[in-house]
Amino acid sequence: MTNIEEVLMPGETVIKKQSGVMVSGPGPTGDLHLTNMRLIFLNKKRWSVLSLNPIGSLMGKDIILPLENISTITTTFNGIKVQADKTYDFTVGRFGKRAEWVNAIQQEKHKAQYPPPQQPSWGPMRTPPPPPPPPTTSSRFCPSCGGPVEFITQYSRWYCRSCQKYV
Ligand SMILES: [Zn+2]
Repeated sequence: MTNIEEVLMPGETVIKKQSGVMVSGPGPTGDLHLTNMRLIFLNKKRWSVLSLNPIGSLMGKDIILPLENISTITTTFNGIKVQADKTYDFTVGRFGKRAEWVNAIQQEKHKAQYPPPQQPSWGPMRTPPPPPPPPTTSSRFCPSCGGPVEFITQYSRWYCRSCQKYV
């Protein structure tokens, strides 16, 4: 079987994990992981299912759902139903466990969609905004008083006459 460590991406951490989860169908049993980026189901019996069952390639697949692909999460009789590209039923158990999973997934999904503003993260495909134009030697203004400043070539610094200081 696949280890969760082999699947995780840089910066991805496991928030919640449960073993012995069944994908309904009835489908394979495995470990369900919620990370800060994805919902990952790793099939425990992948290789034995593959070798014994001709349709094992279908049954034995790991299920990896990016949180942004998940539209709704609801509880079922004995587990949770996750709506993404299609519907997945994960039998996590009854009582509190169903609600715990639904809450945890919704919480992580919300965090992934609305990251805290103090941690701006540039996506791998995005470039930072262009830098401001370089200061010209003819005009520049003092950040304190807004007045014009002079370039003092001797010290290679800008000097504001009203504030009487280098800026
Ligand atoms: Zn000034």
